[in-house]
Amino acid sequence: MPPFLSAVYFLSCILNYGGDYMPKTFRGGVHLEYHKELTSSRPLQEVEASDVVIIPLKMHVGEQCKPLVKKGDRVLVGQKIGDTDAYVGAPVHSSVSGTVQKIDTALLPSGLRGPAIFIENDGLYEVDPSIRPKGLIEDLTPRQITDIIREAGIVGLGGACFPTHVKLCVPEGKHVEYLLVNAAECEPYLTCDHRTMLERTEDLFYGIKAAAKACGADHVIICVEDNKPDAIEIMQNYCDGQCQVVVLETKYPQGGERQLIKAVLNREVPSGTLPYEVGVVVINVGTAVAIAEAIKTGMPLIKRAVTVTGTIVKNPGNFIVRIGTTMDKLRDVVDGTTEPPSRIIYGGPMMGNTIHELDEPVVKGTSGVVVLSRDESPLIGEPDPCISCARCVDHCPAYLMPNILERMVAENKLDKAKKLGLQDCIECGTCSYVCPSKRHLVQWFRVGKMELAAQRRREEDKAKAKETGKAVSTGGGM
Ligand code: SF4
Ligand code: SF4
Repeated sequence: MPPFLSAVYFLSCILNYGGDYMPKTFRGGVHLEYHKELTSSRPLQEVEASDVVIIPLKMHVGEQCKPLVKKGDRVLVGQKIGDTDAYVGAPVHSSVSGTVQKIDTALLPSGLRGPAIFIENDGLYEVDPSIRPKGLIEDLTPRQITDIIREAGIVGLGGACFPTHVKLCVPEGKHVEYLLVNAAECEPYLTCDHRTMLERTEDLFYGIKAAAKACGADHVIICVEDNKPDAIEIMQNYCDGQCQVVVLETKYPQGGERQLIKAVLNREVPSGTLPYEVGVVVINVGTAVAIAEAIKTGMPLIKRAVTVTGTIVKNPGNFIVRIGTTMDKLRDVVDGTTEPPSRIIYGGPMMGNTIHELDEPVVKGTSGVVVLSRDESPLIGEPDPCISCARCVDHCPAYLMPNILERMVAENKLDKAKKLGLQDCIECGTCSYVCPSKRHLVQWFRVGKMELAAQRRREEDKAKAKETGKAVSTGGGM
């Protein structure tokens, strides 16, 4: 926001709230160049899906889905085409009507290959007849709401992709005081949540109401950074008695779940636990809108808002994109770039992943596509030695010591890294950003966490094999 507008906004806040205006924040983090002006005034626009859509069988935290269709099957919009029995998981649905071309591995925005269903889009967008409204929130029980959310394949659309029904099913004995609606959108360049607040306000509040009923929250707080004054105003106008808006300082990573809870409620979520341990559930703006769609129309999560942007993008904007649409389609929608891109990122530049091929699909967690020029994305060279300046420590929002953690992971001392809180790293990239020696800190932490997860899986497999062995020998003895 230009400085004079900030001043006007600040003054208007003082007048509106009688001087009780103080944007909230957390310790650490960093102020960045946001570049949101490229798309913040561009309304959401529907985009045609690509000729072939690629629906990955895992677009969420948890168990991968098994396909429910086979090559040659005709599928319809909204039809469930993959599911899992696991509690932590979410089904996947066809975003177009057409024919299953193949089930094969595909390169995904995570940079990994994974199984996916390839569907030839017939362009008819024929909707599955099972898609019907699910009733009124007032008539639905919390359990019915979470069942609808699960069946609709809804996951956290802020990028974390944690299955939403799991988040909202609070265990017995736990009580949710606050449902926080994460409208911070702290990543540079991204504005799709901002536009969603302005353009889908009614559905947003409908989804919030459903989520609050599902988790039994006493209060709702909508958390918006102070660089979105128009969104703050519209949110305040819609809020009723159960709901309030809290204005946050514009600072990265303000939208991190734990950072948000700390900033708004001054509560700290203990390591390795979920926010309900401190009486809180957090959902994203896009997730709330997806919940509204699932209840009001019965349509599962088959589309999402995506910002496609960059200073070299000819026609940047915010788009409603069908899941599985490939990047080459989005390139056409924005009329390409003024110069060959140096880097294309799915997500924001701080936490997103570089994509390598234009046939990679938009998945449930794709909030944006950011295209960087050579100047904006210099080649990553060899890092200089650590000079122990502690800037990474000062700025880490998770209160970690990235300089020490890096050494532990690089030396494969993963147990020590774990003790030092490696698992609490939210991979925000702030430490790498502020490091004067340009050390590849966050990359090391990703590797370390992947290795810890692999260790955990190996141990679980070993335990399972032992169990099975026991069961077989017990059976044999009877
Ligand atoms: S250590 Fe993790 S949480 Fe801390 S700044 Fe680095 S990436 Fe972010
Ligand atoms: S910011 Fe970089 S140079 Fe400074 S202590 Fe951290 S890792 Fe070392």
